[in-house]
Amino acid sequence: THDTASWQAADAAHFLHPFTDFQQLAQKGSRIITKADNLYLTDSEGNRLFDAMSGLWCVNVGYGQQSLIDAAAHQMKELPFYNSFFQTTTPPAVELAQLLAEVTPPQFQHVFYAGSGSEGNDTVVRMVRRYWDLQGQPERQVIISRWNGYHGSTMAGASLGGMKYMHAQGGLPIPGITHIDQPHWLEHGAGMTRDAFGLKAAGWLEQKILEVGPDKVAAFIGEPVQGAGGVIVPPATYWPEIQRICDKYNILLVSDEVICGFGRTGNWFGCETMGTKPDLMTFAKGVTSGYIPLGGVMVGDRVAKALIEQGGEFEHGYTYSGHPVACAVAIANIKLIQSLKLVERVRDETGPYLAAQFAKLNDHPLIGETQTCGLMASMQLVKAKDRGDGHPAMFDSALEVGMLCRGHCFANGLVMRAVGDRMIIAPPLVMTIAQVDELMGLIHKCLDLTLGDVRA
Ligand code: PLP
Repeated sequence: THDTASWQAADAAHFLHPFTDFQQLAQKGSRIITKADNLYLTDSEGNRLFDAMSGLWCVNVGYGQQSLIDAAAHQMKELPFYNSFFQTTTPPAVELAQLLAEVTPPQFQHVFYAGSGSEGNDTVVRMVRRYWDLQGQPERQVIISRWNGYHGSTMAGASLGGMKYMHAQGGLPIPGITHIDQPHWLEHGAGMTRDAFGLKAAGWLEQKILEVGPDKVAAFIGEPVQGAGGVIVPPATYWPEIQRICDKYNILLVSDEVICGFGRTGNWFGCETMGTKPDLMTFAKGVTSGYIPLGGVMVGDRVAKALIEQGGEFEHGYTYSGHPVACAVAIANIKLIQSLKLVERVRDETGPYLAAQFAKLNDHPLIGETQTCGLMASMQLVKAKDRGDGHPAMFDSALEVGMLCRGHCFANGLVMRAVGDRMIIAPPLVMTIAQVDELMGLIHKCLDLTLGDVRA
C-alpha cells in the first residue's frame, strides 16, 4: 500500500493529467481523493471536503448510492458487454432509450449513445451535416457556437468550444465552425439593462448567420447556462430570441445539456428552464451521476425522421455506444432522481434557498455579481463594486485572486472552482437546506480570508 508521498511520486512519474500544469504537479503533488459519501470527499490525509462541484459537475445523486452500485454489479454478471452495431442490442440499452424518451421533452423519442459529452458533440457535428445532406442542402455545413463555451476535448468538441487556449493547441477550430460572443452582461453589457443586453447578444447570432450566408448554416449550439465558462446565466430575453432566430432561418438548434441536464437547473433539462425547443440535445455526466462513463445525443423528431425514413446507415458509432453496464447504471440513476424527487427539490426548495443566500453575498466587499440557476451558482470577485458606470472594477488578472480564494477553500474543507476571478459551484442535487447553510458558512470564511490577502 501507498502513503500520500509515494502516491504523489508515482503519480508525477507516470500520469499525464488532463488540464494540469505538469511542472506544478511535480513540485506540489496531486491531492489524492480516496473515498466519498453523500456530498463529502475524503483525501489520503484523512481530510474531509465538501464537494461543491459534484466531481466535475456530474455526481447529481451524491456519492455512495447503493442502487447504482447494485445495478452495475448485477449487469456485470448478467452481460458485461455487448455492442449495438449491426442490428444487435441489449436490454439495458433499450430500457434506457425508453426512459430517456419519457424524461426528455416530447420532441425527443430517439437517442444515439456515445461514451462521453465530447463524443456526443462529435456525433452532433456529423449528424447535423448528414441531416442537411439528406435534405438536399449539402452546402449547409457551418455550425455556430460561442466564445468561452465548453463542448469537450475531441477535435470537434474543442472546436465547438470557444476556449482560445484550447484552440491554440492542435490547429483548431476544424473547418466549418465559427463563434459569436457569449451573453455575459458583466463583460459586454455596460450601460444596458440585462434584458436589453440579452436581445443584443442574441442578435449576434443573426449577424453571424447573415455574414456566413443563411443557406450555409447547419446549426447553432450552446449550453443553456455556460458552465466551465464561469456559470454565466444568460438574461431571460436571450434564449427565446435565439429560438426565434433559429426558426426564422430554419437552422437546427442544439442544446448542450452535459452540465444542465438531469435536474441541475430545476427542470429535467436546461432548455426547459430557458424556454427553447431544441432539435438535438447532448447529454453525459448527470445521466449516470458520473458513476460510469456514458453520453449521447437526444435526437428530435425532425432529424430522426430524416435519418430513419431517408437514411440508410449513419456511418458513425462507438464500441461503447449503448454499453449495457453504463445503461443499467443510468436507469438506476434516473429512477433514483425520480424517487427522491430531486428535480422538484431543486426547483422548489434548495434552488430558491441557494439563490437567496447568494443574493446576500453581494454585501461582501469582494463580490461584484452573483448568479444562480437551480443548483449552479457563481460569484465574481472584484476590486471595487462600481467603477463609475454601474459596472464593477476587476482585479488585475496577474494577481490570481480566484486561485487565492480556491486555495483557501481547499485548506478549509471546500471544493469550489475558480474561472479567473469568478468562483463557481454546482453541488450534488441531494444537498439539503442544512447543507446549503454549511456551504455558505464555508464560502463566507474563505471570502474573508481572501479579502485579508487582497488588503494585505
Ligand atoms: N459539454 C459540456 C457543456 C461540458 O461541460 C463538458 C464537460 O465538462 C463536455 C461537453 C464534455 O464532456 P466529456 O468531458 O464527458 O467529454
